[in-house]
Amino acid sequence: MAYKTINPYTNELVKTYPNHDDAYVEKVLSKADALYHQWRNQPVKERTVLLHAVSDYFTAHTDELAKILTIDMGKRLSEAKGEVAICAAIAQYYADHGEEMLRPQTIKSSAGDAREEKHPIGTLMMVEPWNFPYYQLMRVFAPNFAVGNPVVYKHASNTPASAAAFEEAVRNAGVPDGSCTNLFISYDQVSNVIADKRIHGVALTGSERAGKKVAAEAGQNLKKSTLELGGSDAFIVAEDANLEEVNKVATSARLYNAGQVCTSSKRFIITENHYDEFLAALKKSFAQVKWGDPMDDATTLAPLCTVSAKEKLQTQVDDAIAKGATLEYGNQPIDHPGNFFEPTILTNITRDNPAYFTEFFGPVAQVYKVKDDAAAIKLANDSDYGLGGVVFAGDPKHGAEIASQIETGQVFVNTYFGTLPELPFGGVKNSGYGRELGHLGINEFVNNELVVVNPEPKVDFENTFGGFV
Ligand code: NAP
Repeated sequence: MAYKTINPYTNELVKTYPNHDDAYVEKVLSKADALYHQWRNQPVKERTVLLHAVSDYFTAHTDELAKILTIDMGKRLSEAKGEVAICAAIAQYYADHGEEMLRPQTIKSSAGDAREEKHPIGTLMMVEPWNFPYYQLMRVFAPNFAVGNPVVYKHASNTPASAAAFEEAVRNAGVPDGSCTNLFISYDQVSNVIADKRIHGVALTGSERAGKKVAAEAGQNLKKSTLELGGSDAFIVAEDANLEEVNKVATSARLYNAGQVCTSSKRFIITENHYDEFLAALKKSFAQVKWGDPMDDATTLAPLCTVSAKEKLQTQVDDAIAKGATLEYGNQPIDHPGNFFEPTILTNITRDNPAYFTEFFGPVAQVYKVKDDAAAIKLANDSDYGLGGVVFAGDPKHGAEIASQIETGQVFVNTYFGTLPELPFGGVKNSGYGRELGHLGINEFVNNELVVVNPEPKVDFENTFGGFV
């Protein structure tokens, strides 16, 4: 896979990056492994203090880091600045709480003084996508740096400038060389790294296709993996919802980052008492979107990341319509060299239409009409995915009851779907397994080592089942 930046706004080649050879990979793994062994005996605090520096660095260099994102994958500059800000917040969060989260936990036991210690396990391999190039890296790097697990990563081939900039930012902040290293490597080299004895865990964010392949390789090598995959999240408007509040967030819930978000609201499930009004408001709002230069603050819709992403989305939309979906709005070509896709609304998507079970990774909203709240929950759960979700209900308690019945990883009630360092992020079903962020994220690649100390010099075989269990 060739690593190159092609500006999605102009489709001009900006820069090509040569692949790293096996000798370089060997050097990186050896340095990371040495660091891991050094870190095992180092207090957590010595690393969390450096995460403060990482956070400060991202904040101080927001503008230049954000521009790299915009040129690499096309997101609006204001959204790019938001991504840099959440990266700073994640580093800050684990800087503030990492030590406390990794403290040994006492276990009440008749066997003696038992405690669970949290130790690093070694270097991790990460495979990450282009849609949030820094944020995806920070979600794994920051908690694992606190733990004492170095990371190496293969980033998407279309966001190499961001991949290199992240490594440089972390190094410039004062983090030791080898803690977090970018590898411009092929799929075969990724397989070799996963198989390497010095790698002890694998974290992937991306498509189901890549997830299946990389997780299988991790499994074959008996290494734990986490998978953050796609989603087709439901946005439920319950019978008692306040439509004014709904309309404030519905458009950005779908169009943020040009719709290229794993947790975008991709299926709007609307109870019939609200359906006509909701659809009319969404059409009106989509019509007001202003596509244009992502560097320009006046732009509200950015281009998609690549020509092939645009072509794939077009094929999905055309196919959905050919199989009976109604085109309510959009899907008109935009005459510009950039990868623009007109915001599009589809309705009447029946269960036998492949679109019903497909993730649309771009500015395309599916809108469904249902009789009542029970039907909304049923439809939300009739999905191969289970990543996020949004519920709007007049009574927040009722909204929370609906939320709990959705088979998914995370639901926001009466608010926009968001991400914060303290909120664990991850999914179920084909959306993957494991969690990133929060207290769960920091525990994914930890050796919870049990240490039992007998306070008296006697061995009590009976009470510990003779030590044979
Ligand atoms: P993708 O093709 O799976 O790419 C993701 C990463 O996997 C890239 O670095 C890619 O490298 C690499 N990759 C792909 N196949 C590989 C293989 N066989 N061996 C090793 N590495 C491989 O994903 P995408 O379609 O571009 O990204 C969008 C998907 O990610 C969507 O489904 C989205 O919902 C999901 N996503 C999920 C989350 C979450 O947190 N759950 C967050 C963001 C995105 P190359 O670029 O070189 O192919």
